[in-house]
Parts: sequence; C-alpha cells; structure tokens
Amino acid sequence: MPIGNPDDMVPRALKVLQMAARVAAEDSRRALKLLKYLGVHSPVSSFHEHSDPKVAAELLRLLEEGSNIALMVDAGTPGVADPGHLLVAEAHRRAIRVCPVPGACAAVVALCVSGLPGDRFLFEGFLPSRPAARQQCLRRLTDCDRTMVFYESPRRIQATVTDMVECFGPARRATLARELSKTHEELQSSTLSEIHAWLLADPRRCLGEMALVVAGVPAAPATKEPALDEAGRHLLAVLATELPATQVARLAARITGRDRESLYRFLHQRS
Ligand code: SAM
Repeated sequence: MPIGNPDDMVPRALKVLQMAARVAAEDSRRALKLLKYLGVHSPVSSFHEHSDPKVAAELLRLLEEGSNIALMVDAGTPGVADPGHLLVAEAHRRAIRVCPVPGACAAVVALCVSGLPGDRFLFEGFLPSRPAARQQCLRRLTDCDRTMVFYESPRRIQATVTDMVECFGPARRATLARELSKTHEELQSSTLSEIHAWLLADPRRCLGEMALVVAGVPAAPATKEPALDEAGRHLLAVLATELPATQVARLAARITGRDRESLYRFLHQRS
C-alpha cells in the first residue's frame, strides 16, 4: 500500500494484487478504494487485530491449499507499527512461504527527507498516549546518539513535541514530516522549539498523518568541558527541585557559563 499517493504503488505489488486469490486488508473499505483505482478485482477480506478468528482460519486454510494471499495494511509496509505481523507469524509457524513485496514505509521516507544521519537509526513508532508513560519513554532516550523516528497522531503531536522540548532540549534538530506524498505534504525541519512554535501558529499543521524524526544527542565536543564541581552539582540539584529540566539547564548555563546541552545531559544522567 502506498503511504498516500496511489501512483507510488510499485509495479510488482500491482501484479501480486492482481494474481492474489484473496487480499487480506487491514481496512477493507480503504483497500477496495485503492484496488478500484488500480483496476484490480481480487476479492478482499478484512483482517486486523480484532478480526473474528474465523477470518484468520479461512485465510490460513486458503494458504495451506496453495492459494496466494496478498496482505495489505492501511498505509505503507505491513508489519511496521500495524497488525501486519500477525498473519506473517502464523504463516511461519505453519511453514507457509512468506514473500516480501517492498514498497513505501513512512518511517524510512521521513528519515530520507529529514537530512539527519540514517546510517544508524532507532524506530520508536508510537509513543504511549498517557503523558506520564510518554515522558518516561522519552527520558529513556535522552542519551540516544542515533537519529530517532516516531509516529504520532494529530491529537497528540503538540503534547509530544512539548515533552520532547523538555526531554531533549529546545535546540535539538528535528524534522516533522506531514502528509508525505499527499496534496498537503509539508516538512518542517528546524529545532524542536521551532517546530513547537510552528505547530502552535496554525492548528491545521497538527492535522493529517505525521512522522517525527529527531536527531540523536550530539557527540560530546572534542574539547570536553571539565566535570561539574561540587558547587555546580549542588546548584543543579537545588534548581531541579523547583523547575523543569529545560529551565534548570538554561539558568545554570547563564550562572556558570557552561554549555546548556551538556547541563541537560548531566541532569538526565542523574535522574
Ligand atoms: N505500516 C505503515 C508504514 O509502513 O509506514 C505505518 C502504519 S502506522 C499504523 C500509521 C502511521 O504512519 C501514521 O499514524 C503516521 O504516523 C505514519 N504515516 C503513515 N502515512 C504517512 C504519511 N503519508 N506521512 C507521514 N506519516 C505517515
């Protein structure tokens, strides 16, 4: 399935869909719309994590009889932050051949247009929706030195970016990739605090499908600052009892003349 533009459908995927005895689709209505556009008439079954077990049983029976089933999710590649893996895992258990048909994946497309290093990256998918769990998850990533890719929903993007500013610092580079390959495609590549302000400036920017690519923690500078002395550690500890980490680091940087990013790192390492 393309991630937006139906013309991104790869020719081989089209052939596979045409030849399939059945298309197992996460959302049969969306699938039928695309198949109609592509001129494909293969029968479609709805298959997702809440499907009646009889649907899976029927698909597996067809596979065991030697029929080809094409697996389709709502957007992009099955198995990436969607229920695609369920049927694949069951097929492996029964020694049924699984054949990949590579196509678009929003995480990879967003990474490619982010301008951030992709030689190593961490795919985090959707963060937890509850604020406390989301913040805890982000705190675990404070020291991650790889580019990180997240999926997010329009309902939570503003809160998530706010939490990222708090956890990773306002100056961290990031790219918000919205509606990739669609009419309203938009990229905002700047710092987290600028993305935060950009979203606030126009609520329509919070709509649609989005992926967020965030730089890893910058490598420590070659001329490393000397470790914080007792007085510096005490100052941070006192400020941290009253203020969020972003403000603590900003104030402590002004008082001590030290680098703000390294003060963030220090704060998060001790928490
Ligand atoms: N399996 C899919 C893939 O390969 O990308 C992802 C499925 S996940 C349920 C859907 C999420 O992917 C969306 O909520 C959004 O975060 C991201 N996504 C899908 N299409 C997108 C697009 N056109 N632009 C930006 N993000 C997109």
